[in-house]
Amino acid sequence: MNALLSKPIETSRGHIEVRDLGIQFDTRGGTLDAVSEVSLHVNPGEFVSLIGPSGCGKSTLLNVVAGFLEPSSGQTLLDGRAIKGPGSDRGVVFQQYSLFPWMTVRKNVEFGLKMQGLSANERETQARTLLGLAGLLSFENHYPDQLSGGMKQRVGIVRALATSPQVLLMDEPFGALDSQTRVVMQEILTNMWQRLRLSVLFITHDIDEAVFLSDRIYVMTARPGRIKSEMVVPLPRPRTPEMMSTPQFAAMAGSIRALIREESLAAMGGELSDGGLGGLSTEIGPRGMSSVV
Ligand code: ADP
Repeated sequence: MNALLSKPIETSRGHIEVRDLGIQFDTRGGTLDAVSEVSLHVNPGEFVSLIGPSGCGKSTLLNVVAGFLEPSSGQTLLDGRAIKGPGSDRGVVFQQYSLFPWMTVRKNVEFGLKMQGLSANERETQARTLLGLAGLLSFENHYPDQLSGGMKQRVGIVRALATSPQVLLMDEPFGALDSQTRVVMQEILTNMWQRLRLSVLFITHDIDEAVFLSDRIYVMTARPGRIKSEMVVPLPRPRTPEMMSTPQFAAMAGSIRALIREESLAAMGGELSDGGLGGLSTEIGPRGMSSVV
């Protein structure tokens, strides 16, 4: 078996810690507080989602963990070391496919491995193993424009995984896909994650997606984004699509929906709060950290 899959699951690496993070932008209108006082963590091998209203700073936060952006205050650590820039220990997947159109699927996947100095044989073995895991082996010699959106994004995930990162950072990776493809992609991702067991920090605005995929979910407030709630998803592994029709799933999704609705209303300056939506505060209870276990 390929070394990637036969290696023992590393349980002590891939620990992300975000401590008291603040991110501000200088804009023409003055200083914009994007994220404020955010502390969160992803345990090694854990799947954690960040969910919150649009513009609450999710992408900004992920960019800091990826090392693309320096925070204004606070600390971001990977396995106890401060994150100072991008690194091959973190794979990143964005909504846009960002594949090289002039390279075949396999060459796209091999690209990062070439940068790491692997031999042509090692690169091919590694790429083919992961493409097989993603059900893409028969497309290894295709070019990106010959693939559907879902397939392109699967290649994007495989490419991010090729260099064996400890952490996978995913920013709305399925946001551009139709709902049926999205559900299939969620299943493929959860299967791959079960197999590889790396830490995942996943951004989405799709509540069902967050519940289906995650071990834990952080719900953020409207901008400046803070952590409003941390929830443990009580569903067993492996996850199956049938779980999405269980009362447990519906209850969890309902709690998150209520929290986000409250934040979306707050972001609108309370304009709508008197228009028949006033029962919201009694439905949700007091603001602040809550936990559904
Ligand atoms: P989300 O991913 O939750 O939708 P973002 O992280 O993209 O939110 O953005 C958070 C806030 O920061 C938004 O108000 C956005 O306009 C602002 N923002 C993001 N990047 C920049 C930037 N480079 N310069 C100025 N403002 C920015």
